[in-house]
Amino acid sequence: MMSSQELSFTANVDRQFLRAANLLDLPPGLAQQIRTCNATYTVRFPVRLRERIHVFTGYRSVHSDHVSPVKGGIRYSLAVNQDEVEALAALMTYKCAVVDVPYGGSKGGLCIRPKDYDEHELELITRRFAYELIKRDLIHPSQNVPAPDMGTSGREMAWIADEYQKLNPTEIDALACVTGKPVHMGGIEGRIEATGRGIQFALQEFFREPLDVKRANLAGGLDGQRVVVQGLGNVGFHAAKFLSEEDGAKIVGIIERDGALFSDKGLNVSDVKAWVNETGGVRDFPGATFVDAATGGLALEAECDILIPAALEGVIDAENASRIKAKLIVEAANGPITSAADEILRERGVVIIPDLYANAGGVTVSYFEWVKNLSHIRFGRMERRAQEAANAMMLAELERLSNLLGESWSPTDKFKRSYLRGADELQLVRSGLDDTMRESLQSMRAKWHEDERVGDLRLAAYLIAVEKIALGYQSKSL
Ligand code: NAD
Repeated sequence: MMSSQELSFTANVDRQFLRAANLLDLPPGLAQQIRTCNATYTVRFPVRLRERIHVFTGYRSVHSDHVSPVKGGIRYSLAVNQDEVEALAALMTYKCAVVDVPYGGSKGGLCIRPKDYDEHELELITRRFAYELIKRDLIHPSQNVPAPDMGTSGREMAWIADEYQKLNPTEIDALACVTGKPVHMGGIEGRIEATGRGIQFALQEFFREPLDVKRANLAGGLDGQRVVVQGLGNVGFHAAKFLSEEDGAKIVGIIERDGALFSDKGLNVSDVKAWVNETGGVRDFPGATFVDAATGGLALEAECDILIPAALEGVIDAENASRIKAKLIVEAANGPITSAADEILRERGVVIIPDLYANAGGVTVSYFEWVKNLSHIRFGRMERRAQEAANAMMLAELERLSNLLGESWSPTDKFKRSYLRGADELQLVRSGLDDTMRESLQSMRAKWHEDERVGDLRLAAYLIAVEKIALGYQSKSL
């Protein structure tokens, strides 16, 4: 998607890294070690399909081993290439550091258009790709733990986990070899929605600080903010759904492969998603204006308060950056803004919530899933009923005391129901994710507000990440 005079994806990530590293007093050579991708494995493997042999190309990059295991999604797309996988692996290293998730960065990809294959064929291809990575420990509970990304989902993760179990029948922690699995295969409640939910929590936290809202030339809370979302896949759909249904934001535009939908009244995100699932695109969705994809990225330039690119990298570049009208951009996708565009937007005063923080909800909940798999017990199983019993005792005691004082107080049924209920796995996952997104933005905000050299949240996030990774390296023998 990037125009030819722009840098490669890896060079873009490097440039952002160097903005931060140059402000830090790192030991000689350390910046070079941190930003270098340690290893990329390229595999070409055959699968017999439709009575002939098809050869597929896949990658798994390990960007940084400073913490083990390394972690990062597996992407299925024809656009997958070594540069993209390495850039995404680097982003994973920095992302995990920003949100305090104890992993190094990795990423994988397979050059394939999933739509060209039926489910059985995709299973054969996925299992063979997994086998190639497993036998080199590039999928392993304590060394390298993949997750879903563009073009993959819980279904592929379940096949990978099963393949790993078959090859390692005595490995008790086998299910921790991959995250984003369906719940029946050792997955965790709330993982599917996690990245979109993380976008919601990030925006909620952003709008808690009036100074930041003002810096973005916005006012008020999330309620009524006009939002345009690009990509109604896993991340874009959940982010748009939660923001509109729970926070009162108005989704005035949805951009998909075939074109864009606009409505000043606001679009019903679930209805649009159902339409896309049924018809393959957004064209002809009733009650909204359709703009054909042929008019290109123009839809990204539509009038709105918040723009959420949640599809591809490099969609906002030096060519269109000056025409973007949004005041706040949330990078739900990885690398949607090139470094040249980032500079233009910063100069124009557009506030950007950067990818390495904004879309970290997925890896955060993946971390919870991995911990669940290693501990072999669902979150909340031991303490939920004990918590309910303690809450019930507290209410009974309050009622007894109020009677004693002649007040005869008793709580409403609604209060009782929500107060007495102990937290189940989904509530605990959401609480852990909310805490992560709040705390991380608060530390980025502290740098943004207090260090005059830090004029934007991306630089703040990179500074936090590089400082933490550098500290990790200082305790290692190199
Ligand atoms: P997905 O495959 O579920 O969805 C991608 C969506 O983008 C699809 O609806 C697709 O039709 C749409 N799209 C593709 N090309 C487009 C175009 N040219 N214009 C408009 N829309 C287009 O993928 P996803 O998992 O939602 O990932 C989206 C982005 O978020 C990627 O950059 C990914 O790396 C990033 N991300 C995903 C996760 C996760 O948990 N899935 C976590 C962190 C980051």
